[in-house]
Amino acid sequence: MAIWLVAAWMKANSVAVVDVAVSKTEQDEWFVAYHFEEVVERVYFVRNPDSSRLQRWDPLESGYYLAVDSESGDEYVARTDGAGFNSVAFQLDPTYIALRKDYAPFSTFSDGGVSWFTGRFKVCPKSCSSALAFSYNFSMQAPLREHIRLPEQSERGELNWRESASDGQVVYVGPQALDTSRQDGFETIIDPILPRSLQQRLRQDVPPLTAYFNQRMPPLSERPMLLASFSPTTDGRFGYQGGVVGNQMLLHWYGHSMAERVTAPYFVEDTLWFIAHEFAHLYQAGQFSNEQAWIHEGAAEFMALSYLRSIRTNSIYLNHRLQGAQAKCNTSQDSFEVHYACGLLWAADIDAQIQATYPHGLFFLWYMYVQALADDPYADATQLYFELLAQLTSETFAQQMRTRVALRYEQLPQQAQVPAP
Ligand SMILES: [Zn+2]
Repeated sequence: MAIWLVAAWMKANSVAVVDVAVSKTEQDEWFVAYHFEEVVERVYFVRNPDSSRLQRWDPLESGYYLAVDSESGDEYVARTDGAGFNSVAFQLDPTYIALRKDYAPFSTFSDGGVSWFTGRFKVCPKSCSSALAFSYNFSMQAPLREHIRLPEQSERGELNWRESASDGQVVYVGPQALDTSRQDGFETIIDPILPRSLQQRLRQDVPPLTAYFNQRMPPLSERPMLLASFSPTTDGRFGYQGGVVGNQMLLHWYGHSMAERVTAPYFVEDTLWFIAHEFAHLYQAGQFSNEQAWIHEGAAEFMALSYLRSIRTNSIYLNHRLQGAQAKCNTSQDSFEVHYACGLLWAADIDAQIQATYPHGLFFLWYMYVQALADDPYADATQLYFELLAQLTSETFAQQMRTRVALRYEQLPQQAQVPAP
């Protein structure tokens, strides 16, 4: 009994619960309202890719403000009079922005649907570095005509769920209902404005991609959700951005219009590469918190290349991609480009070396890596990757790779470097 009481007390006192109520009105206005268990003077955001909340979040009551901490660079909320508070609310700008190192807070669909990333809304009362664990009671309210969806969940009016402080997930709010007739494969939410050929490709490519990765990587534990969206731009910018969070794959295109893009040379090949790259991340099972981003980005690039080769994609295109990676890897001063371009070439060399003994090459290394990290989530991921590499090749080869990678990152300007492995 005494032990139970202590355990219950510990539990009650080690978790700070934050209520996060997101709402969309009939007039298409978006709000977020926070409630904290205790009065606080400052509330910090968990994720701070930049300071764009300052422009995009508008406090509903005067006397509250958003600012950037001069030491940490993190965004926070406080009152102008310095007084404590236990609730605060904002009106939000629900438009698409690409954040360089984070998921887009909002992605828009041309039929009025919107998807938003919960991680953007996670805050820590007082400080994010305290010993407290944070728990978030999310709610989403929307007009009754809309569907509020998370993987395997769909409600009208209101949906409630709970999350920890780790990454987050993407919530869809809009006219597309859950298709209950399809129990296998992917849940798909595809923007109807995407060209029909692209929509068809998405639906048509998912089964063979799934089969390809199922043969080579540990199977997915849950049915994934694919969200494909598009937002128009007026300033000439165009492109695409993808991401995987949990078992959700996000594909977003932006630009003046899609119609002209689909006729561009290699649009089909580029799109397939992009989707196959994100598929690889899905099967990497969240193993990309690693600061050595070349490990997962390079592997995703290589897995995309392998898939495209397996379906006999135009070899001129594939050579062009490899030569592009070689050129960038030789000269780039940008750490992101090094992760992808050099990462692809390093992954290809690792694959060739492993294939001398094991036919699935890099995929086999990743199979073991994903399994080992699932068994021991606190393992040093980089260390583990090189240990497994040494097992599948040799100590000498693994050490050569370490040195080669470290030397390349050392050539970058100081602030762009990652710690040497
Ligand atoms: Zn990637």
